[in-house]
Amino acid sequence: MERRAKIYEGKAKVLYETDDPDLLIQHFKDDATAFNAQKRGTIVGKGGMNTRISATLFSYVAEHGVRTHFVKVLSDREMLVRRLQMIKVEVVMRNVVAGSLAKRLGLPEGQALEQPVLEFYYKDDALGDPLINDDHVRMLRLATAAEMEAIGDGAFRVNEFFFDQRGILLVDFKLEFGRYKGEILLGDEITPDGCRLWDKGTREKLDKDRFRRDLGGVEEAYAEVLRRVCG
Ligand code: ADP
Ligand code: UDP
Repeated sequence: MERRAKIYEGKAKVLYETDDPDLLIQHFKDDATAFNAQKRGTIVGKGGMNTRISATLFSYVAEHGVRTHFVKVLSDREMLVRRLQMIKVEVVMRNVVAGSLAKRLGLPEGQALEQPVLEFYYKDDALGDPLINDDHVRMLRLATAAEMEAIGDGAFRVNEFFFDQRGILLVDFKLEFGRYKGEILLGDEITPDGCRLWDKGTREKLDKDRFRRDLGGVEEAYAEVLRRVCG
């Protein structure tokens, strides 16, 4: 697969066109940002680790009925993906109180939620990705009701699998979906950059919160997730 023009460089990834108009190369960088890019840094080896973690998780959810953009791993830091028309909604699923939910509702971090909580954020850096609801999605014409149903269904399915058997508590995670030939596919990535992953026993944080909150041991945490997910 030939790498052609760079079409987008984001905070954590770069997208390149290929000789097939339906396919893109997604390159994972070591760059890390937090708090809407006000904090910037590098997590050594993150690009390579996230490529492997995301590929394994996309393959796994695909086997469990979630259609995804993932085609195959091309190299250490690159994977081939279907080119999606992205829906500008960040889809967050939560099982345990943390992050902005703790802040917004004044709840203690770590409190288990009786049922998973699904949230939508408008993907707009200039606005700081505000929390929105289904009516706002409709009002802004971001997606149809049928598309939002498919997205919610996909998010609940991703929530059901995988981590528990590997000693990881899936606290919360962010997904992005897009359109491809009339279907909704899961795109972007599933990695410790966009998930809160705690050790099930000790509740040690194994995700980007170690970078966000200057907790140290960032690379080690990503390596531990890689070991548990792909090992
Ligand atoms: P950001 O844009 O927030 O800085 P990234 O650095 O992760 O984030 O950039 C990746 C970009 O690629 C995101 O904007 C995401 O919506 C987009 N994207 C992810 N998967 C696909 C895909 N399959 N097709 C097209 N765009 C995608
Ligand atoms: N998240 C993300 N990108 C964002 C915002 C959030 O990947 O731009 C992920 C984050 O890693 C966490 C979940 O979504 O797993 C919920 O994040 P939250 O709303 O608590 O925001 P935060 O406090 O992390 O800013």
